[in-house]
Amino acid sequence: MKEYDVIIVGAGPAGSNFARLLDTQKYRTLIIDGSEDHDKVCGGLLSPDAQDILARYDLCLPKEILASPQLFSVRTIDLSNNLVRHYRRSYMNVDRKGLDSFFKSLIPPTVDKIHGRCKRVAKTDSGYEIELVGGEMLGCKWVVGADGASGNVRMSLFKDKELQKYVAIQQWFPAGETNPYYSCIFDNETSSGCSWIFFKDGMLIFGGAFDRKGCREAFEEQKKKLADGGFVDSNAFSDPVRTEACLVSRPRLSGGIFRGKGGAFLLGEAAGFISPSSFEGISYALFSGEMLADAFNRYSAEKISTIHRYYNRKTQKLKAKVAMRCIKRPFMYNKLLRKLVMKSGLTSIKIKTPKEKE
Ligand SMILES: Cc1cc2nc3c(=O)[nH]c(=O)nc-3n(C[C@H](O)[C@H](O)[C@H](O)COP(=O)(O)OP(=O)(O)OC[C@H]3O[C@@H](n4cnc5c(N)ncnc54)[C@H](O)[C@@H]3O)c2cc1C
Repeated sequence: MKEYDVIIVGAGPAGSNFARLLDTQKYRTLIIDGSEDHDKVCGGLLSPDAQDILARYDLCLPKEILASPQLFSVRTIDLSNNLVRHYRRSYMNVDRKGLDSFFKSLIPPTVDKIHGRCKRVAKTDSGYEIELVGGEMLGCKWVVGADGASGNVRMSLFKDKELQKYVAIQQWFPAGETNPYYSCIFDNETSSGCSWIFFKDGMLIFGGAFDRKGCREAFEEQKKKLADGGFVDSNAFSDPVRTEACLVSRPRLSGGIFRGKGGAFLLGEAAGFISPSSFEGISYALFSGEMLADAFNRYSAEKISTIHRYYNRKTQKLKAKVAMRCIKRPFMYNKLLRKLVMKSGLTSIKIKTPKEKE
């Protein structure tokens, strides 16, 4: 059995950033990722917080991973109250697969990398044992779960800390002539989460986060409402070229965030770090990866409680951000409160689309 000091499960933004920043002179490190081509179900919108983090690292994005069009406002559609407002938001529209490959390319060659799917993690006397699909066994002193919402590390080691989740469904359509707005959609009748429409290199992408029960029906119902209400061209949703689904974490004010225990640490979405209102998670993943690497580099990992204390303290602001978003949620997701906010026009951009003139 191959032995390492640190094994990172998952090479998304969280795992890659941790691997990039970890002092590999100090720790013999392996990163494992199970995806074949890193085609993640994601909007691929890089928030201002994520942009700030990249700027802090003095990192620039290669232009090949930028998608068209670039976005500077969000059209908010409230299907329950039949309201539309535009708000200024400076997201970068990127190709998510390209972004993940970019982050992976920054992992130093001193980190061993293997393609493999972690099936199970178990605690041993000296650390952790990781079983890959196919039977290969790996051993380590410290394990880092950066394996996203369906996190196997969290599920294997901390069964009582299960995360609540939505099912996210996305469909891709040839874009046609539709005005390429980024839209955020609320509809209390079909979802307690939000949905989105955006455009990427000639494709229209419609997606949303739904409660598990009846998710597919709710998804179809929303498409119908958007087309019937004239929010998209009537034939916009007629020929999907791709349908994809995955789980997305749903942290709550009362819990969900768990950063690990003993020699096991959780990063990014596996720790429950994601915005519960907009599902923006890349900035949370990058930041948590950085903070854990900082803890490992600063102290000896043998001092596990010191590492946990440092990591928890440094990611307290992420936890607070999730809590703030949970508090803000009723103003976005409660039909009446949302109507009041949107009707007031507060912070919205005053523009007239044909729909609003009616
Ligand atoms: C539909 C949807 C749209 C989203 N849109 C946006 C957006 O526009 N902007 C934004 O900022 N955030 C968005 N998010 C959230 C964002 O995608 C995540 O929060 C972010 O990717 C989390 O990064 P991570 O590194 O923690 O996990 P992930 O990016 O999920 O990476 C986990 C990695 O672990 C690997 N893995 C998983 N299980 C195993 C296993 N058992 N063995 C080995 N490897 C494994 C996976 O292959 C993956 O590479 C969206 C999420 C969804 C579901």
